[in-house]
Amino acid sequence: MTCIIVGGGRAGFQAAMTCRMLRPDQAVTLIDAEKETGYYRTLLPQFMVGALPEERLFFPTGNNDPLLTVRTGVRVKTVDCDSRSLTLEGGETLGYDRLILAHGGDPYLPGILAGPPCHGIFPIRDLTNARRAKAWLTDHRQVVVLGGSLVGVKTAVHLRQAGLAVALVVRRGHILLRALSPESTEVIEAHLRGLGIEICVNAPLEEISASGGAIDALKVGGRWLSCNTLLVATGTAPDTSFLEGTGLLTDGKLIVSPGLQTSDPRIFAAGDVAVISSRGEKISPNTWPQAVSQGRLAAENLYRAVPTPHRDMTRINAMDLHGLAMVILGPPVSGAEVISHARADAFVRRELFLVAGRAVGGALIGDITAAGTIHALINSQRQLTAREAGLIRPRTENVIRFPEQTGRRAALILSPKRSSL
Ligand SMILES: Cc1cc2nc3c(=O)[nH]c(=O)nc-3n(C[C@H](O)[C@H](O)[C@H](O)COP(=O)(O)OP(=O)(O)OC[C@H]3O[C@@H](n4cnc5c(N)ncnc54)[C@H](O)[C@@H]3O)c2cc1C
Repeated sequence: MTCIIVGGGRAGFQAAMTCRMLRPDQAVTLIDAEKETGYYRTLLPQFMVGALPEERLFFPTGNNDPLLTVRTGVRVKTVDCDSRSLTLEGGETLGYDRLILAHGGDPYLPGILAGPPCHGIFPIRDLTNARRAKAWLTDHRQVVVLGGSLVGVKTAVHLRQAGLAVALVVRRGHILLRALSPESTEVIEAHLRGLGIEICVNAPLEEISASGGAIDALKVGGRWLSCNTLLVATGTAPDTSFLEGTGLLTDGKLIVSPGLQTSDPRIFAAGDVAVISSRGEKISPNTWPQAVSQGRLAAENLYRAVPTPHRDMTRINAMDLHGLAMVILGPPVSGAEVISHARADAFVRRELFLVAGRAVGGALIGDITAAGTIHALINSQRQLTAREAGLIRPRTENVIRFPEQTGRRAALILSPKRSSL
């Protein structure tokens, strides 16, 4: 059986290595548009500021395996489900018996950046751009990070930690709005400001000023910000154009079953590109842990008569923002009941979103105790007992913070309320 995997990010490599492990006698071909593959995208911010050597970016990819062919620097241009073949740019055609689509997302860039080329502007997405940004940042240390997503926030923190002047610019009223409640984002924003990061909210990008072909200022929300580097983290969107006409797309999206199978039973999808249809919802967690678990499951399901459903679709994500620990357990849900506890003076907030007594998401900031247990409760999808709901209370002794943030530990216990999101 010939197996091809499109995309050599975390999902693609996890799928390739799982296929090789399950069927040691069968060859796998992995195809990726980038020249280099098999690296931790999540570590690019640390690499860009020189905090991580390049060799530490790469994860093991089974590169001594004679039955794993990795083709890099070439893009898949078309897929033909009837003849079970795909075409590469350059015209070569390859046949497959099973196909896994794991081609992730391309960076979304605001239209204004499509103007004439200007030095000092880099999307935060891939190793090629991260290398360029790293070299540029050596002499250009006044940085604007555009986009208040997790990628934008963690990049801003690493830049600041490395001593650069940083402004984090977001179009809406808060950072991390898709991941956290506004109350939680306020805790993070206060911490970032304490680190010396300027946060500009309600600030859409309006104009770029350049001199000598390099950026020197940005107009955001009616105000000019001086800068000599712009790092863009305004999100990603999968490029599914090469799947048009295949019948695999619904409204341009690659919708898959809970077993990650597409509408063609020979084709599976995993990672950022896959939109999982489950219990009437369309879920695309877009996280590294999900790329790993989905890549593995897609490969396992290739060989099953009945695909096993993906059981863990939460968007759990753990991060340390220069001394402020944070675990995101799932985004706010419209109309959900919120149980929250906060210690405002210690940068702690813990919240859980409940729908009909079931935990559906939450966040732990500054005190991440019981994160694993709470995550398991969310996955169990059952009604919580009062004792389990009590797990969200902070444990002061486990608060992680930097000395300059210490202070009185007065507890501010907020009463349950309805989420207004
Ligand atoms: C800077 C940064 C920091 C991040 N930090 C975190 C974090 O802390 N925690 C977290 O959970 N997530 C984080 N993420 C998100 C996480 O990296 C992604 O969710 C994950 O990498 C998705 O993996 P993937 O394999 O689905 O897609 P990708 O990693 O995007 O890989 C897809 C690959 O497919 C290739 N490709 C695309 N189209 C084609 C084609 N037509 N033909 C051939 N190849 C193609 C691309 O070149 C790419 O190499 C971060 C992302 C970035 C950029």
